[in-house]
This record gives sequence, C-alpha cells and structure tokens, in this order.
Amino acid sequence: MNFKVAPDAMQKLTLLDGATRHEPAGSDPLSEKANAATLRAPKRLPCIGEAATPAGKKPILMAMMTTACERNCHYCVFRAGRSKTERVSFTPDEMAGAFMKLHRAGLVDGLFLSSGIIKGSVTTQDKLIAAAEILRKKHQYRGYVHLKVMPGADYEQVRQTVRLASRVSINLEGATPQRLAALAPKKDFWGELVQRIRWASQIKGQEGWNTSLVTQFVVGAVGDTDLELLQMSETLYRQLGLRRAYYSAFSPVSQTPFEGLSPTSPEREFRLYQAGFLLRDYGWNLEELPFNPNANLRLDMDPKRAWAEEHLHHAPVEINRADRAELLRIPGIGPRAADAILAARRQGALTELAHLRALGVRNVSQVSPYVVLNGRRAAQQLALL
Ligand code: SF4
Repeated sequence: MNFKVAPDAMQKLTLLDGATRHEPAGSDPLSEKANAATLRAPKRLPCIGEAATPAGKKPILMAMMTTACERNCHYCVFRAGRSKTERVSFTPDEMAGAFMKLHRAGLVDGLFLSSGIIKGSVTTQDKLIAAAEILRKKHQYRGYVHLKVMPGADYEQVRQTVRLASRVSINLEGATPQRLAALAPKKDFWGELVQRIRWASQIKGQEGWNTSLVTQFVVGAVGDTDLELLQMSETLYRQLGLRRAYYSAFSPVSQTPFEGLSPTSPEREFRLYQAGFLLRDYGWNLEELPFNPNANLRLDMDPKRAWAEEHLHHAPVEINRADRAELLRIPGIGPRAADAILAARRQGALTELAHLRALGVRNVSQVSPYVVLNGRRAAQQLALL
C-alpha cells in the first residue's frame, strides 16, 4: 500500500498486518492458532485476533511499537537487515489512541503489545510502558493488556510493566543458554532474561499484584529436546510462579540464517502443551513424563496415555479407592472429573462407566482400559454402552 503522506496510526496498523500472529496473547494458545485463519477474514484488521482472557474470549489488538529491530535473532521476521520486513513505528500516543478508537468502535477489548528493539532495550521498554500508562491513566482503560518485557529492561521498568499489565511476557526462546545462543546470539539467557523473570515474580509477590507471567520457547530449530523445554518450564512453574510456557513450533522465514531449516511439526508443539498441562495442572513431575531415549515425547500418542499404557494397562486403578493424584494419572480424567468422582464416591460405589459419564467424563472409552469399577474391569462394559 502506498501512502502519499505519512500514514496515520490506523493505516500503520494495517501495515502491521499479522506481525505478531506467531505469538500467543492469552491463556489458550492452541485455540488462538486454530482460529487465526478465520480471524484474518476480509474487512477485519489483520492485527486483530482472539484470545482467552480472565474475562473470557475477547477480540485483541495484537500490535508492535515498532517492527524495526537492531538485534539479529536467527529465526525472526523482524531481525536487523531483513529487507522484506515492512518497518512501522508508533509513538505511545499513537498506539494508545488507535487502540481506544478500535475499542470504542467495539472491535477490540484487549491489547497485546510487543516491540522490536531500537536504541536499546531501556528506550524501547519506556515506549511500551508509556503506551500502557496512557491507556490506564488518560483513557481509564481497565481491560486486558499483555505487555512484553524487553531483554535487558531495568528493574524499575519491570516493576512498572508488571503494575500496568494483566499479563507480562519475558520470552526465553531457548531452554538453555546454549540453545538461546544458537537462536539469538545477542541475547543473554541468565542476565537479560531469567533475571527479569525473577524480578517480575518477586515484584508480584511483594506488591500483591495479580499479573500473570508467561514465557515462550521457539521449538525445534536448534536441536532442543522436549526434556530440556519441559525441564525449564517445570522450574519456572515451581520456582517462579510462571502462569504458562508457550511453545512455538519453528517455521523458517526467508532472508534469515534459518531459512533453509525444516519446520517443526505442529504435533510436537501440541504434545509439549499436553505435557506442560500435566506438569502445571495435574501435579506430575518431570521424571514421570514418558520420554523416548532421544529425550523427546512420542508424537503418535498423548503423554498421559503413553504413561498409562506403560503403567496402568496391566495394573488398572480402582476408581472407588484411588486418591486424587491417582485419578489424575488416568487418561480422560482431568481435575474437575477427579473432584466429581471423589465427591460422588461418598454417596456410594461407582460401578459403571455410565456413572463416570454422568460425572463429566466425556470420553469413557479413553478411561476404560485403565480402570476397575468395584472390582470389575471397566473395559468389558464398553460393548454394553
Ligand atoms: S529482539 Fe525480538 S524482534 Fe528483534 S530480532 Fe530478536 S526476536 Fe526479533
């Protein structure tokens, strides 16, 4: 698109296109990805997506303060020197004003704001903070704002970002310093990134703010294993109160050093999310996850079922006696169903798969090979259902 005069903020948003479509904005990254195609419908700004927020699914403006960057991460569409990237920059006032215009028109109710790095991380972070401050103070916007912390932002900036945002991303990209060095040679794993997650976690605790902290990993470009990725995720969940790790399957970008690498399969990303849920929501430990000898998860089977095939197939769980942790090991039983089973057992024995179905277990055929109901193998009941 050619503008005879400098483009205004709304025109710049059009130029942004789907610049941040590779980054999850809310709590349900898999559905964001699945819905991306529908949401890039004609007549809708390509930088509007949909994300799960604490107040439900919302249309979100996914924007960047600038698509210019002085760093050279090997996988990134915005890396310095890539001529195919359209460079667009906003002032904080422009960004906040454009967001509010869309918000008042009922087109968005949430903002995901990232940025390339220009004139250093501190200058860039100041702009992100200024845009959010204008939204919160001048426009009294109280809704969902997801902000990035730039690698190397200073302590007070991390504090201000955690104060202003509903969700804060500090992306590690690689699970170890070696993997990060291969992905992004100018980023410092411990000093620039992990330290900022530590600060954000401490600040949240000290100030009592409810901001959620997240990180993202680029998966599969530099030989990283699922074990490494999940080990770092577990550490961040347990020690620093991370709300979620996002896994982003690597996809090669032309005019980058990685343009000739193969893309990572979406199945790998999906299995990592499934294993991440087991660590975060189901109380599993890393050692319990069923890794192959090459330190990766199976692609053909979800990790919970792979574990159950090994451990429960010949030693099924008695539904009427299992504790909560044991129930959560059974494929098809999640935290809600486990709690419903524990409550229902107090009224009497559960003897049929139909009882489990009535308690919210949607797919009893997933459950049946691994459980016993009042001493009887549940698998034998399937034919009767
Ligand atoms: S710092 Fe961010 S925007 Fe810049 S090249 Fe690296 S990943 Fe891309």
